[in-house]
Amino acid sequence: MKNDPAYKAKSAWEHYESDEDRQKVMKFSREYIDFISKCKTERETIAEVAKILAKAGFSEDWQNDKVMAPLRGKALFAVIKGSEDPANGIKLIAAHADSPRLDLKQRPITEQAGIAQARTHYYGGLKRYQWLARPLALHGVVIVDGGKKIEVAIGEKPDEPVFCIADLLPHLAKDQGQKKVAEAFDGEKLNIVLGHEPRKTEEEEKEPARKKLLDILQQKYGVTEEDLITAELEAVPAGPARFVGLDESMIGGYGQDDRICLYCALMALLAVEKPRQTIAVMFWDKEEIGSEGASGASSRFLQYCIEDLCRSWCPQASPSHVFLRTRAISADVTAGLDPDYQDVHEKQNAALMGYGPVFSKYTGSGGKYGANDADAEFYASLRAMFNKAAIPWQAAELGKVGLGGGGTVALFMAAYGMQVIDLGPALLSMHSPFELSSIVDLYSTWEAYKVFFMSDH
Ligand code: MN
Ligand code: MN
Repeated sequence: MKNDPAYKAKSAWEHYESDEDRQKVMKFSREYIDFISKCKTERETIAEVAKILAKAGFSEDWQNDKVMAPLRGKALFAVIKGSEDPANGIKLIAAHADSPRLDLKQRPITEQAGIAQARTHYYGGLKRYQWLARPLALHGVVIVDGGKKIEVAIGEKPDEPVFCIADLLPHLAKDQGQKKVAEAFDGEKLNIVLGHEPRKTEEEEKEPARKKLLDILQQKYGVTEEDLITAELEAVPAGPARFVGLDESMIGGYGQDDRICLYCALMALLAVEKPRQTIAVMFWDKEEIGSEGASGASSRFLQYCIEDLCRSWCPQASPSHVFLRTRAISADVTAGLDPDYQDVHEKQNAALMGYGPVFSKYTGSGGKYGANDADAEFYASLRAMFNKAAIPWQAAELGKVGLGGGGTVALFMAAYGMQVIDLGPALLSMHSPFELSSIVDLYSTWEAYKVFFMSDH
């Protein structure tokens, strides 16, 4: 029925039905798989983003129309000047480059029962047991005495060793099996196996495997144990992202929260040649631990960038006015309806895989606590924008009321008075070492962000 007043979300699969469309979706998916396979940390992601932007003509010079402002390799603001005065407000998309992981402690190297291990302190919300008994890679930076920075990425190439956390065998896990999950997997037991060969010495030595490891670190990398104190080393799942399913309809990989939105936002920015309004992407760090810190969304960095923008492109305008006229998307993922755990979702307001990017009017928990609650006018204008451009979209909440919740960077952007709403694809196994996305959600999210940037309203 043509004038049926009932609402029905449109499947993105029906939207990209033709062979031609499917090929476009596959091409974009392959490029995305390469990106997330290469970018495992916030630093690697920001470095890759800067490289791609530089190739596309972005520089740090505000005399130009395409500008990028990096912050210590951990966050980055990128903007294209529109033909219209930026004083009228800009269009902004913000995504985050950090993902849950295991950070090495400041004094990581230990030896127990002849095994040399790295002690870790996990970063972000993760289910500890998912990180056991699986190959891990070590990424990060070590500043050696004297200030030289060594960039580390060990465990990604096929001929490199990997690392792992050993798990308890089921034969002896009877007591563990009786415990609550949170108690069964102790955060202090997330110790990563680094080696076990003892150092060769004349007389008996304490912790010979640990000593051997320190020898290797010094001989192979020029790194001392003290250098590790100030290092940033992150253990992440080893290996590339992959297509999932016989039909290659999904993508499995680490860090899709939030690099799927980050990639779509970046590619949307690059797809718009001469925008009418000024368009920008803010790439944040630290979202997974509450957006604190200099490179997180609660910092003043975005404000400083807008102040620079005003000084260079619209000196008569005040940054606060630009902020108040800015329309923004907080580009982050949400939970897809889990086929095996449907009871944690309220199905009428749950996101379905394959139904396009998901609007979350609000996030938060315990009665929308800690949420940005987007206004109806802005939300409706985006709905109209996407309908006009025939972009599949859906609307959802993270899960059932009171079952938990989560936040995004939206509230930190809203603090500036801009209109902002969350919009990003749904994932299965969110925050796990192998998150799942749908290829049509990936593609339609890219299209949605492009339409947002290009649209006249
Ligand atoms: Mn996220
Ligand atoms: Mn997250």
